[in-house]
Amino acid sequence: MTGGAEPRLGPGAEFERILSLVRVLGARASGVGDDCALLDIGGEVLATSVDLSIENVHFRRDWLTLQEIGWRAVAGALSDLAAMGATPDGILTGIAVPGDTAPADIDECTRGIRALLEQTGGSVLGGDLSSGPVWTISVTVLGRVLRPVLRSGAAVGDTLWVTGSLGGSRAALESFIAGQDPPPPSRERFARPLPRLAAGAWLAKHGAHAMIDLSDGLAGDIRHLAAASSVAARVDLARLPLHPGVLSMAEQVGEDPAAFAAQGGEDYELLVALPHDFPAPLVERFESETGVPITRIGQIEAGEGVELSLAGHPLTIAGYDHFR
Ligand SMILES: [Mg+2]
Repeated sequence: MTGGAEPRLGPGAEFERILSLVRVLGARASGVGDDCALLDIGGEVLATSVDLSIENVHFRRDWLTLQEIGWRAVAGALSDLAAMGATPDGILTGIAVPGDTAPADIDECTRGIRALLEQTGGSVLGGDLSSGPVWTISVTVLGRVLRPVLRSGAAVGDTLWVTGSLGGSRAALESFIAGQDPPPPSRERFARPLPRLAAGAWLAKHGAHAMIDLSDGLAGDIRHLAAASSVAARVDLARLPLHPGVLSMAEQVGEDPAAFAAQGGEDYELLVALPHDFPAPLVERFESETGVPITRIGQIEAGEGVELSLAGHPLTIAGYDHFR
């Protein structure tokens, strides 16, 4: 992104605070507002992003093992590289733990970080370790991409797609909140998400116009893509691919399953705008080469804002907001 301009973010208190701090920085802020910061390094682009995981905000130690906490912290950060189409080189980890934490506990969390990096590629390049009031893991990711896909590239006529399936992480979260053990597929989605790095790189290489990873829920994240691109997005929620376990949990909390999934955070799937003439055989090739399903859920139109509809009726729902 170019420097100087104010970022075009979707609505929400978290994003009002981001806009305010960008205004304070003034000319000392540059290119804020996409999934990653981008630096031209000659021939390639370096993509970098930072993500915080804080005990009792992003995770609870009575819900997850320390290995899962480490895995998850890094997965969320790497997902921002996936959204640009970038391939990870490595990460920097800033970890704070209460002063009485056993060294073996830090090792256990680190085993989770290693296990994820064995799946995704990339290594730990450095970091910082401190004491702090609660477990806090800050992960900075570094990756490279030839042609980064921004949030701002969606054009009128584009089709909107999502990878994989949605709502699994929220299904686990609702189980935990209700004091139940989540069904294994939902728990796996919540505890050990796999960032869609190969899918993101494939889509970048094959001409995706815009991408964002779904960390705060489709209903919220799609607003950022539409705002950044200065277009309107229309989505038919009946088309959403639902993770197994969503139907029963949505029934338990009394919500429509598609609305439940659209509001669920931390699925780490990709929302992508593809050119209107993207060929169907290429969609099939995407699925066979990456092993990830992709589903058309809507389209980009002229105007602004997002219209989510279900069975022909518009729905007003939002994603997760830290400052709501
Ligand atoms: Mg993101």
